[in-house]
Amino acid sequence: RKAEALAKRSADDLRSPICCILGHVDTGKTKLLDCIRRTNVQEGEAGGITQQIGATYFPRENIIERTKDVRTKVEMKVPGLLVIDTPGHESFTNLRSRGSGLCDIAILVVDIMHGLEPQTIESLNLLKMRHTPFVVALNKVDRLYSWKSCPNAPITNAFEKQSRDVMNEFDRRLNQIITQIKEQGLNSELYYKNPDRRKYVSIVPTSAISGEGVPDLLMLLVTLTQQMMESKLMYISEVQCTVLEVKVVEGLGTTIDVILVNGVLHEGDQIVVCGMQGPIVTTIRALLTPHPMKEIRVKGQYLHHKELKAAQGIKLTAQGLEHAIAGTQLHVVGPDDDLEDIKEEAMEDMKNVMSRVDKS
Ligand code: GDP
Repeated sequence: RKAEALAKRSADDLRSPICCILGHVDTGKTKLLDCIRRTNVQEGEAGGITQQIGATYFPRENIIERTKDVRTKVEMKVPGLLVIDTPGHESFTNLRSRGSGLCDIAILVVDIMHGLEPQTIESLNLLKMRHTPFVVALNKVDRLYSWKSCPNAPITNAFEKQSRDVMNEFDRRLNQIITQIKEQGLNSELYYKNPDRRKYVSIVPTSAISGEGVPDLLMLLVTLTQQMMESKLMYISEVQCTVLEVKVVEGLGTTIDVILVNGVLHEGDQIVVCGMQGPIVTTIRALLTPHPMKEIRVKGQYLHHKELKAAQGIKLTAQGLEHAIAGTQLHVVGPDDDLEDIKEEAMEDMKNVMSRVDKS
């Protein structure tokens, strides 16, 4: 079935890449996410951005609009971008099963005033180990002495407005940070000077407060994912789905929040999830997402769906999920599948989760 699904893939049918944000505490991960998401923007202006379960979805049109002033243009082939909402969430640090990572690309946030810090280096090593492509957001450029604010401008436009002193200070700090990254065994360069994106990590200067560089960051995430992982992004019917959290919700009982990385989920699908007391075989009762533009924490505001196609953040309800384990894969039982095989496969994840618990 997998081979069949793979054979049907096409470059004309890509799924949205999934992006995570990580880095040292206080570098501005949350703020950057808010800025990308424009959480404080009026509903009408948000341009189709939807808050999902554990993630925010940016449709193609929104990204095109926000990157229109960036000089290096790119044709957008992906339908959008799914950004995981919780910075440094276990979705990246712990949730990893059988070599199938949740994130296609990551943003590593570095504070330009502080350079590489202990958790930056930890994150770097994690990214290297997992071969996850990433970009560095060199954040808080607005803190450079006498920086002239250019709200939401592409970074090159903002640089043109700065004095010589500001640019000298920027260059000095940038070079220090490039050296620090080199000490970690990686080459890096400002993204618009990058000679080879496969060999050099791209650096995007940003301000999460005034938004400079954020258009460049969005553009770069799209460009890199399209260039470097087209085949990984080809939509397939085979379900790939990770359990983010197990939660009790008033009126719904135990639910699981999942990220559907690939494939389609339907109401009524038979699923197998790894459980504390063995495999849980159950049926999807409801597929839920928050109402557009409503905070996901608002009660009783879920939209029901008959089916949902990747990539998406979804809450699902089914019986018997009480002992489901976050960080494991959700499996769908197809008409030709052997249930026992799938149960065994589901429980493989237990070992991975447990070995992580042992280590930490
Ligand atoms: P996190 O711990 O990485 O999520 O960091 P936060 O997003 O909570 O930011 C830490 C602090 O830095 C907060 O006080 C933010 O307002 C501030 N901050 C974040 N980004 C920027 C930025 O680009 N410029 C300035 N001046 N401050 C920022």
